[in-house]
Amino acid sequence: MKNLLVTIPALCILACGTQKETSSTPVVNKTSTSVATTYANTITAAEMKTDLYIYASDEFEGRDTGEPGQKKAVEFLKKEYQKMNIPSAFEGDDYFQEIPVAYFEGKAKNDSENVLAYIKGTEKPEEVLVISAHLDHVGHHDGKIYNGADDDGSGTVALLEIAEAFKKAKENGDGPKRSVLILHVTGEEKGLFGSRYYAENPVFPLENTIANINVDMIGRVDPEHKDNENYIYVIGADRLSTQLDETVTNANKNLSEFTLDYKYNDRNDPQRIYYRSDHYNFAKKGIPSVFFFSGIHEDYHQPTDTPDKINYPLMTKRTKLIFHTAWDLVNRTDRIKVDRDGN
Ligand SMILES: [Zn+2]
Repeated sequence: MKNLLVTIPALCILACGTQKETSSTPVVNKTSTSVATTYANTITAAEMKTDLYIYASDEFEGRDTGEPGQKKAVEFLKKEYQKMNIPSAFEGDDYFQEIPVAYFEGKAKNDSENVLAYIKGTEKPEEVLVISAHLDHVGHHDGKIYNGADDDGSGTVALLEIAEAFKKAKENGDGPKRSVLILHVTGEEKGLFGSRYYAENPVFPLENTIANINVDMIGRVDPEHKDNENYIYVIGADRLSTQLDETVTNANKNLSEFTLDYKYNDRNDPQRIYYRSDHYNFAKKGIPSVFFFSGIHEDYHQPTDTPDKINYPLMTKRTKLIFHTAWDLVNRTDRIKVDRDGN
């Protein structure tokens, strides 16, 4: 996640009520949930650990935007999708959305790229759910590599696993009804550049983009939850769509797993977490967006954010919750509605 010191967009924050509306109609029916569970169970701690030990290794040199380590990271992602037989959103074997160096406002020395993988929907392929995580981190300084295992190696490997689960579902004739775009964005740490570039140059029309699920830092337990690690922060879900918020709540209810912590969804949150990761570039465009996050910890933006400190079973459970949320969004009868003003 982006450091707070980086420019924060000036925004008018209204003191909206935080009262959550509830619906008596379950969004996910039982049959759909049990099918989803079958594929959610393909998401395993062992695979996430294997991938993260590679992705957050010293070889990737902290994945600084435009630098050789970041290029290794995108090649790794491309190969993983090719291995899984998941196509690109572009023609052939081009998985990269190139972003020219000038776009980074002097904060990167070279061009960089987003990585896009695509699972085409079976019934409403033109409607797309974007699941995002940032692929970059802050590089290396003073001879120390900032591995960024949690930030955002955790979200990155979660996307690989979610993509694989949807791919297996598709192979078995279980949808998804709508399309899933897996979007690994670059330049997040330098100011949410990759997601902004995508939102300004969308591969699929934004009016057909039903929602964005953003995953940034889901592998740790923050000090506030050291006695109850079964939690995840849910941020932004209710800003544009009551139904998006309900979808997350229902997915969690069906799994009965987590305390959904809305602390950072508070409009007056002094850390302004809502504005500090990539979902915000979608929300700004009126697309319902939700950010899943496990909080700030002592190794945040330190060289000590390493893969040995990740809680793999917990990260896996969180990824399953995210998968179930995504499953509902792409398989529900009607796409979720925008019924709120974004504040
Ligand atoms: Zn960060």
